[in-house]
Amino acid sequence: MADSLIRGIISRGVGGLYAVRPVFDDRYDGETELLARARGSFRIQNISPLVGDVVTLSPAGEMNEALEVPEDTGAPDSTGRKRRGKKGDIRVDWVISEISGRKNSMIRPPLANLDYLFAVIPTASPEPDLLTVDKLTVIAEDCGIETVIVVNKADLDMDGARKIADVYSLAGYRVFLVSAGSGYGMDELAGFLREITEKQQEKGYVSGAFVGASGAGKSTLMTYLFPELELATGSVSRKTERGRHTTRHVELYRTETGNGSFWLADTPGFSLLDFTRFNFIPTDELPGSFREFADLIGQCRYRKCTHTKEEGCAILEKLSQGGIAGSRHASYVKILEEQRSVPEWKRKQM
Ligand code: GDP
Ligand code: ZN
Repeated sequence: MADSLIRGIISRGVGGLYAVRPVFDDRYDGETELLARARGSFRIQNISPLVGDVVTLSPAGEMNEALEVPEDTGAPDSTGRKRRGKKGDIRVDWVISEISGRKNSMIRPPLANLDYLFAVIPTASPEPDLLTVDKLTVIAEDCGIETVIVVNKADLDMDGARKIADVYSLAGYRVFLVSAGSGYGMDELAGFLREITEKQQEKGYVSGAFVGASGAGKSTLMTYLFPELELATGSVSRKTERGRHTTRHVELYRTETGNGSFWLADTPGFSLLDFTRFNFIPTDELPGSFREFADLIGQCRYRKCTHTKEEGCAILEKLSQGGIAGSRHASYVKILEEQRSVPEWKRKQM
């Protein structure tokens, strides 16, 4: 019986159904995509499967009924071929019977178990917005997602690029200084992707997303790193899709990085804004979510130190000694102010 169960990850949602990639199962190759529906009891329990969820599939068997699905979803059948479904005629062979415990989950984009966030910061054009990047690092820290900083467009201003890189190296992040346009530094970034993919073989998969302001160079970077994906999705359609869909649509794409697959989370609307607006960090957790503050918490003179202007503040002391970048502390103060301006009742809804 156990043989008929399959474990995999949800790679996308398709009109109320889910495409599942059986990555933990030797019986299937990497291209297989199984179409499944959620077990009825999930709805009663108010659980929705998310892209990125590790799930167990059971055969739908006799229970299989014709499902109402919208026309033209382009949903794949169980062999992975796209089919243009007529209303009500998609046969679903699998049921998601179990969702494994999540490492993390985000509301918008709706995504589970993300391992890495690659924060793409343009050196110039557009001007880098470090406050937004810092909000992102805070959210990622809180969710247990590892942030990797990618300073792009280094060709436009190498000195400027190094200054930004230094800010985040000092904070304890892995930083890559690149030019996706010219290829500068891209071997190191590609090497890092191979490294993390190989390291996570045991877990079964590793996923990441590239986020950053519009024009930062995300598409250029992804095209450079995952050329095979570009063939599959097409840069033109990617761009036009951005306008059409909202951030509710997210998909995990399988990419080959040497010894294993790296799952790239992508959505037409992946922007920094979605993360920063929809994932609220409680005020008391804020200082600890700044990585370079974390080991100093509890060492200030006053127990209720806000680390903004107090005497005997360990964080301000480290700042004055150059151990914390000015822009990072300024972001901390700004985020704290923003949080305080949000009424308590509203925070709960965020
Ligand atoms: P996205 O909105 O973040 O996906 O950004 P794109 O990848 O579409 O890039 C925005 C613009 O920046 C395009 O015109 C790219 O050609 C350009 N661009 C991307 N990377 C670089 C780079 O490393 N150097 C320079 N000079 N331009 C770049
Ligand atoms: Zn303090």
